[in-house]
Amino acid sequence: MSTIFNNWSCPIETVNLSAFNLNDFSLSIVREDMLHPFVSGNKFRKLKYNLQAAQEQGQKKLLTFGGAYSNHIAAVAAAGKELGFKTIGIIRGEELESKISENPTLSFAKDCGMHLHFVSREAYRQKDETEFINNLKNKFGDFYLLPEGGTNALAVKGCEEILCQETDSFDYICVPVGTGGTMAGLVKASKESQHIMGFSALKGIFQSSEIAKYTSKTNFEITDSYCFGGYGKIDIDLIRFMNEFKEKTNIPLDPIYTGKMMFGIMDLLKNGYFKENSRIFAVHTGGLQGIAGMNQKLKKKNLPIIE
Ligand SMILES: *Cc1c(COP(=O)(O)O)cnc(C)c1O
Repeated sequence: MSTIFNNWSCPIETVNLSAFNLNDFSLSIVREDMLHPFVSGNKFRKLKYNLQAAQEQGQKKLLTFGGAYSNHIAAVAAAGKELGFKTIGIIRGEELESKISENPTLSFAKDCGMHLHFVSREAYRQKDETEFINNLKNKFGDFYLLPEGGTNALAVKGCEEILCQETDSFDYICVPVGTGGTMAGLVKASKESQHIMGFSALKGIFQSSEIAKYTSKTNFEITDSYCFGGYGKIDIDLIRFMNEFKEKTNIPLDPIYTGKMMFGIMDLLKNGYFKENSRIFAVHTGGLQGIAGMNQKLKKKNLPIIE
């Protein structure tokens, strides 16, 4: 497939743990955030085989769903623009329609040519129902449907490609978890001896059953101990940690997913969770486009911002 989906292999960087006084471990991070200059990481992996399927089916239009700051919406808009698909985003929250210019994610999507269609929270809840989808087909014509968050079997297949020969030597593979699709790909592609650790960005570890839909392997565990109260929730400790991490490593983190994962990894390291001399591998899934929107909210609350 053309242009953006060729030859992805992201740089793997070693994190200098002595800067954090954690000398007995090795931590490496794969910079999936570098896949694309604006939109990054796992959302593009999840789109790869879906967009290939859409092309094969002769579809010219992609339709998907998301909230006001959705990395998935931004990724679909950007990928659609680069590969010549029309894109339609069904956005949760009618009140946002008049505020597109104030919202960095929605402005970006619009600038990429995405048609934004705003629906009430009530209507949005019906997004998996046939009647709702059929109504959208009547309105917009035929389209290739991408689920919210982008998770399906083809998405999982794309995420398997995050791992490669170079990653075989790691004992632990850490990843942030939303729907669990990315983690499912990692579990599928992992060695039996590797332990996959998911850091849930939301309350609950219900994603285990989602992962079980795609693989029978059980060498994984999910924790929500570092979700900071729920999806999109943050506090000053998290912001301070993210800024400190960036200062010491030069690696920017996002507040919704990768910041929480890295906070969790560091906490587990300090508390002796990992066996000594363990080789730990973390997936930077991207999400940096969400920083601008979060900083707007932080400024309004007079809180420190993400540097
Ligand atoms: C969507 C997203 C995730 C979660 O991916 P799932 O496959 O839904 O678990 C993790 N990190 C970032 C940056 C994301 O945008």
